[in-house]
Amino acid sequence: MADILKGAPVAEAIAEGLTARAARLRAQGIEPCLAVLRVGAQDGDLSYEHAILGHYDQVGIRVMPVLLPAECTQAALTAEIEKINADPRIHGCIMFRPLPRQLDEQAAAGTLIPSKDVDCMTPTSLLTVLTGRGDGFAPCTAQSCMELLDYYGIDPAGKRIAVIGRSLVIGKPVSMMLQARNATVTMCHSKTVDLPGVCRQADILIVAVGRAGMVDAGFVNPNQVVIDVGINAAPEGGICGDVLFEEVEPLVKAISPVPGGVGVVTAAVLCKHVIEAAEKATK
Ligand code: NAP
Repeated sequence: MADILKGAPVAEAIAEGLTARAARLRAQGIEPCLAVLRVGAQDGDLSYEHAILGHYDQVGIRVMPVLLPAECTQAALTAEIEKINADPRIHGCIMFRPLPRQLDEQAAAGTLIPSKDVDCMTPTSLLTVLTGRGDGFAPCTAQSCMELLDYYGIDPAGKRIAVIGRSLVIGKPVSMMLQARNATVTMCHSKTVDLPGVCRQADILIVAVGRAGMVDAGFVNPNQVVIDVGINAAPEGGICGDVLFEEVEPLVKAISPVPGGVGVVTAAVLCKHVIEAAEKATK
């Protein structure tokens, strides 16, 4: 039986102290505020937004929804981001991605000022992750994987780590962050030859693909820690991860569940980034 790396205690540990920090800011007349920019109404975006709204109220962060129709133009999106940039009441902004096809995501992300970029959308923040230097925030999901490992005392140093996925949201940044912590990282993708064989060699396997149940018994070994980042619509309703949990769980040392794993931590990390951005704005 594997250890189950649940997200809730990690999120609680992160949230501890944030309420007090939010209260300190409020006492100075500053209400920490996150703009949540959503274009259209995709299911995944709505469920993340729902999680943010519930969580943030408890900590004392104001959430300002900015909603645009799915068919909006690039100019309309740019105009909203520029309004967010100019509004001193807003300390951080998250924009749900991917955007509808007609929109240039990189151009939109690059419009946001880096000081409000609490989820690493801008080139400036990405450079911080790449170089390990600078003020930019790490992407919340990649940071959540690190928080999960740290909370459960799993030190990446010296470990062989396979990351499946090379997106700018998760795969690439988490690979960089793990490498900065002295892990030896193999970043895998859809063209990786013998993917199960590469993954079987790893001490830690991080899966961020977006394909329900893709990782099965053939990808793992008995000493492995598996972190499942995937969020997919489950055939029976609700959500499921990229790992075939029932098959893999008895075969590995530790595994994070979906739901109840990385996703829970992501909302708490975002919260922490907003408080930090608000604190920086007071200096
Ligand atoms: P993405 O941009 O679509 O990237 C998916 C990656 O998986 C790509 O690098 C792709 O390789 C790789 N891939 C696809 N099919 C593969 C295959 N058969 N074998 C090996 N690699 C394959 O997705 P993303 O934004 O990184 O998100 C990944 C997952 O994380 C999704 O399920 C998403 O919902 C979830 N997510 C979770 C959280 C959270 O808080 N838990 C937050 C955000 C996203 P190529 O580069 O070769 O195409």
